Amino acid sequence: MLDYDLHCHSNVSDGTLTPTELVERAAGRDVKVLALTDHDDVAGLADAAQAAARLDMEFINGVEISVSWRKHTLHIVGLNIYPKNPVLAEGLRVIRSGRRQRAVLMAESLARSGIGGVLEGAYRYAANPDIIGRTHFARYLVEAGHCKDVRSVFNRYLVKGKPGYVPHQWAELKDAISWIRASGGVAVLAHPGRYTAGRNAMGKTTLLELLQEFVDLGGQGIEVVSGSHTPPQFAEFARYAQEFHLLCSCGSDFHGPEESYRDLGRLPDFPMECRPVWTYWEKAAV
Ligand code: AMP
Ligand code: MN
Ligand code: MN
Ligand code: MN
Repeated sequence: MLDYDLHCHSNVSDGTLTPTELVERAAGRDVKVLALTDHDDVAGLADAAQAAARLDMEFINGVEISVSWRKHTLHIVGLNIYPKNPVLAEGLRVIRSGRRQRAVLMAESLARSGIGGVLEGAYRYAANPDIIGRTHFARYLVEAGHCKDVRSVFNRYLVKGKPGYVPHQWAELKDAISWIRASGGVAVLAHPGRYTAGRNAMGKTTLLELLQEFVDLGGQGIEVVSGSHTPPQFAEFARYAQEFHLLCSCGSDFHGPEESYRDLGRLPDFPMECRPVWTYWEKAAV
């Protein structure tokens, strides 16, 4: 089992625990090194770092940046960033401002299909209103009795082709990578298995083009062991890591005790050939 968990969310984005509660839970589950990677915001890092210091756990500053690439939405995780870097902070601020506008359009779209009052309802679930997102909408729609759980809300309402889905322009891939690098971090392609499955799936050729472009733009790592990958995908993405000379990362993508497949820290080991992403900052520290 890996005792590194380098991808998870607090209620600063769409997780349900506060940064402090998240770190406490990770410590209780024997995580030795934790990165908090909230979507498009770094506001939880200071509290998380403080809790980690108290619990004698190593903490890595992280973020998960939303990106539009061709017709796909991608997530780029930045690890070991310096959260106060002005280039990074400004880039994230712009993404956040787009979230509020999208939320209004999502609510209008749901209203047109007969579901009203959703904007107010969703904001009640957003501890940080700057990061209002689809998960907050989903939680409210469950509360209001439209679906039995968050997953079903996504399938019925919040994905491409469904009434509550609104196309959105996130950051450019090259910008997300350059902000992360400008702040001293490592840019990691999050959960690639999510891009090759589902309604808007990328074909293999497109995935290879993405990996090449990611590397050319300065991307350095790929999530091999992710809470949303199957064991055959661990092997598949470990092969791509080798082929593209990428460091390998691992993370549960935990969002909350009630909603996640994988709890914090419960991650199987890397395939043999993987070079772990932490060699990047552990080497730098020597
Ligand atoms: P947003 O950035 O607001 O578009 O929301 C994206 C977030 O929604 C992801 O980070 C996940 O937490 C969640 N999500 C996306 N797809 C699904 C799904 N099919 N089921 C449950 N949660 C999902
Ligand atoms: Mn999320
Ligand atoms: Mn993600
Ligand atoms: Mn995530």
